[in-house]
Amino acid sequence: MTKIDLRSDTVTRPSPEMRKEMANAEVGDDVYAEDPTVNELQELAAEILDFEAGLFVPSGTMGNQVAIWSHTTSGQEVIVEEDCHIFNYELGTASAFSGVTPRPVSSPDGVLKIQKIRSKITPDKYYLPETGMIALENTHNNKGGRVYPYEELRKTVNFAREKGIPLHLDGARLFNASIASGREPGELVRGFDSVMFCLSKGLGAPVGSMLVGNEEFIKEALIGRKRFGGGMRQAGVIAAAGIYSLNNNISRLQEDHENAKILGQELKDLGFGLTPDPVETNIIFVNTQQAGVDAFDLAKSLRKKGIVIGPRNSGNIRFVTHLDVNREDIEKTIKAIKDYLAG
Ligand SMILES: *Cc1c(COP(=O)(O)O)cnc(C)c1O
Repeated sequence: MTKIDLRSDTVTRPSPEMRKEMANAEVGDDVYAEDPTVNELQELAAEILDFEAGLFVPSGTMGNQVAIWSHTTSGQEVIVEEDCHIFNYELGTASAFSGVTPRPVSSPDGVLKIQKIRSKITPDKYYLPETGMIALENTHNNKGGRVYPYEELRKTVNFAREKGIPLHLDGARLFNASIASGREPGELVRGFDSVMFCLSKGLGAPVGSMLVGNEEFIKEALIGRKRFGGGMRQAGVIAAAGIYSLNNNISRLQEDHENAKILGQELKDLGFGLTPDPVETNIIFVNTQQAGVDAFDLAKSLRKKGIVIGPRNSGNIRFVTHLDVNREDIEKTIKAIKDYLAG
């Protein structure tokens, strides 16, 4: 039985075509900047986002953390949204490795309104920790793949520029935001000082993320990556998968969004609650409590049918669509949930 895995878009496996590119990749020692495939990927990423330079990093977490390390000095604060990845899922690394304190700001939808950011900037007093960086997340994972409103992005960019505070985007799913909003990825990141995006999620590469910025930032980030243990050697083998994913797997994210919408609508009709409602991209948080369903029990029942879902707790499940899940898989999942409800 083929498995249908709806826990995350990180579970995608390289396709035969992608593996062919990996097998044929020209490689060299990337610590000496001599891997032509890595160099090509870095140039391609920078070009797509309209930045000067790019850096291939082993994971999104490393990309975010290298950005923090590069932009800040020890003792500063980094303004983040309370439910964001950097604050919740990166094991306190900003503090441990860069010596900075996160300043979390709460928000119902993952959007940091400019007034809130403004109120968290520390005044210029020698006895207060200086604000060293602001980080936004687009799409917002923990808020259900929400797309950051474009007007708010612009406001924050203008504000950060005016204040001279480095602005970083955790764009793990930036291309989902681009497809959902109909805006070019370069437009969504214009004016940021750095952007991280993942190749290993919806884009379907097995490993890796990209960091982009200007030449000066990437020069610093290169040092940070080496320090953090991310200096790789013949990394062209995996960079080739990244190039393939950027050339082939961006526009098809639309299918993932459609599949998530179909699944979301059906679940809603069955009495479950959705966040967000309506579904925006490829992530849905499903409130099962509202339908009187124990999330763990549902997960156990679906697993017997080869469908894997990820309950967060007994009343909530995160569903994520991706390129290894097609429309038929979504139909099968809906049917399995209906069968479960019918007892
Ligand atoms: C997955 C993710 C990351 C980190 O990526 P890893 O490659 O798993 O380290 C960062 N930010 C967001 C929003 C993510 O969803």
